[in-house]
Amino acid sequence: MSSLFNQYRVEELLLATGTLQKRLWQEAGELRDAVFGKEVFIRGVIEVSNFCRQNCDYCGMRRDNQKLDRYRMNSDEIFDHLQSILPASVRDINFQTGEDVVAVRETILPLVRRIKKESRLGISLCLGTLESKDYDQLREAGGEYYIIKIESGNEAHFKAIHAPGTLAKRIEAIHYLATTGWQVSSGFIAGLPDQTKEHFLETLNLLHRLPLRGTSVSPFIPGENTPYEGAGVMSGVEALNSVAILRLQNPDRIIPAVSAFNIVHEEGYRLALEAGANLGTINLTPERQREDYQLYTKHRVIMNQERVLKAIEKAGLTPSEKSMIRFLKKI
Ligand code: SAM
Repeated sequence: MSSLFNQYRVEELLLATGTLQKRLWQEAGELRDAVFGKEVFIRGVIEVSNFCRQNCDYCGMRRDNQKLDRYRMNSDEIFDHLQSILPASVRDINFQTGEDVVAVRETILPLVRRIKKESRLGISLCLGTLESKDYDQLREAGGEYYIIKIESGNEAHFKAIHAPGTLAKRIEAIHYLATTGWQVSSGFIAGLPDQTKEHFLETLNLLHRLPLRGTSVSPFIPGENTPYEGAGVMSGVEALNSVAILRLQNPDRIIPAVSAFNIVHEEGYRLALEAGANLGTINLTPERQREDYQLYTKHRVIMNQERVLKAIEKAGLTPSEKSMIRFLKKI
């Protein structure tokens, strides 16, 4: 592990500025280059449904949010849409939803089967905590990479923010998925209300110990029509340093640059890549649905192909020709 951890406490690295920050990001970037080369994987995401049975205090799609028009796309609609707009750089596709078992069974399952049969795209899913039989069916249909975040690695904090179910259940799901042939990614939200330094360290330690191929950090953005609407935002510095810390702790994992970085810092997306991230996501949700897939605000920063490629280039990196999922299968 990096010598920076011998010289500095993680909380000092989290707040690093100036020379220390430069060193932190440089080491993280070099480590990413040593494992993955100077290449960034590119995936597309379609936000399939915003129905959600959960009531997370931080999320605009929580079931108590009555101000949201709910939608659920069908599989043919998504398949046709993908065929007409798939950007040339995309090698993997991620389908994301609120926790909506109807969408899982009626839309995602047939869609995954068809995509597996008719394309070479790697298939990622981010659908929440489901029953084992749902994970099994999705895997059999062709799903390969499952994203299920722990949000906070401290049990009491997880409960206080009303994250989905219990932390123990999410951890159980991660182990189940990892032992049934899935590549699993998890992650957390940095800067959540009432998140202490201890929670932060506990979360990083837990993520490091779990059987994961990917790990993410998203800066907390106060969501409209949520109990945290008026809460404070973490500084861009801390959010970006978190990416570098994750890379130093987990050299061979996929770490995404998430679009929320652009909210906490003007150049946040590019800087996340410079701090060690190696995955960019192009939003392919049809415009009609996009506004209602509201994690935080209706005014989202939409990362299209042009923006993602520009950020990659400005960070001195290149878009990968390979599918992230196929690449992971070989290492
Ligand atoms: N429903 C699925 C689940 O719970 O895993 C997947 C979709 S969920 C809406 C996607 C992610 O958005 C969550 O895992 C969470 O980390 C992130 N998110 C939601 N609200 C957020 C906020 N206010 N700030 C930052 N990230 C947020």
